[in-house]
Amino acid sequence: IFKGYIEGVPKETDMELKVGNMIKLEAPKGSGAFLVKNLYLSCDPYMRGRMRDFQGSYVPPFNPGSVIEGFGVSEVLDSDNPNLRPGDLVSGLTGWEEYSLIYKTEQLRKIEPDDIPFSYYVGLLGMPGFTAYAGFYEVCAPKKGDYVFVSAASGAVGQLVGQLAKLHGCYVVGSAGTSEKVDILKNKLGFDEAFNYKEEQDLDAALKRYFPEGIDIYFDNVGGAMLDAALLNMRIHGRIAVCGMVSQHSISSPEGQHNLLALISRRIRMQGFLQSDYLHLFPRFLENVISLYKEGKIVYIEDMHEGLESGPAAFVGLFSGKNVGKQVIRVAYH
Ligand code: NDP
Repeated sequence: IFKGYIEGVPKETDMELKVGNMIKLEAPKGSGAFLVKNLYLSCDPYMRGRMRDFQGSYVPPFNPGSVIEGFGVSEVLDSDNPNLRPGDLVSGLTGWEEYSLIYKTEQLRKIEPDDIPFSYYVGLLGMPGFTAYAGFYEVCAPKKGDYVFVSAASGAVGQLVGQLAKLHGCYVVGSAGTSEKVDILKNKLGFDEAFNYKEEQDLDAALKRYFPEGIDIYFDNVGGAMLDAALLNMRIHGRIAVCGMVSQHSISSPEGQHNLLALISRRIRMQGFLQSDYLHLFPRFLENVISLYKEGKIVYIEDMHEGLESGPAAFVGLFSGKNVGKQVIRVAYH
């Protein structure tokens, strides 16, 4: 349960676990709803934005006292929706609870049983994976040989951006917040180089070390000081895809950027985007990424927390970099 609107970095005590019984394990007749058993729930940084009382965003705030809403993978138990039958597996918006009655069907997808882990449908094959795909191909306009920099590179989105960039023939460097993550970037995810930004005194100098000839594409997941440093290192006609600013989510007055002048002199295109603007590409994304995964050309790292009660800690951990890979909560086994 989301307790109430917050300021600053989210804390576990901003959420609480309530135990109760569902009155009936069935979808009411004539409601169009379906009842699911939730298997996996996704922790996503954008959910922090729903914890403040601000109506002007692209997603509405959570209701204090209500069950947290998020992406998940669920099994249909009962359905009054003609397109869904008991036993179907679906991914889409659900509740942070063991069983949910779902009325909304936007972004709902049926999962075809396959030899792919079902949890990937909130990561590699879900919203974060699609963000990487749409952001990289549609916003970054990549070319073979481009120098690509990805921040929060070992996370749900970043790890796929880097691998897609490598497959595209780019030189790819990632930043992350621990030496364990740096090791994963270089040795499991195939990045050419990676560095721990928390160990760098001077981010500009670090980027100059890894990109002596400058950056063609910066896939920005963090904003703040890293974006400022990247601006100083962009090449002429470079592209910055502003995917997220996780460093700014919990700050009441976000930091200003100091180096925007570089946009003019270097003719840089800096573009914010939302994955939801590209949903027409979802079927193609799914087909391409499933093939790449099955051919062994991409891998995906998850950080699986066990049990609904681990949800608050898992979510809060995103904002201090505790997650190693895509943060998922396993609520039940299929
Ligand atoms: P991640 O799995 O990457 O988890 C968040 C990571 O951000 C942490 O592990 C941590 O990694 C890093 N981080 C946390 N706090 C800070 C900070 N203060 N400064 C720098 N890094 C920090 O999350 P996702 O891959 O799910 O999301 C990545 C970004 O993409 C987010 O900004 C998110 O909002 C955005 N996004 C945007 C979408 C869109 O449509 N535009 C859709 C989906 C996501 P580390 O240890 O490396 O610091």
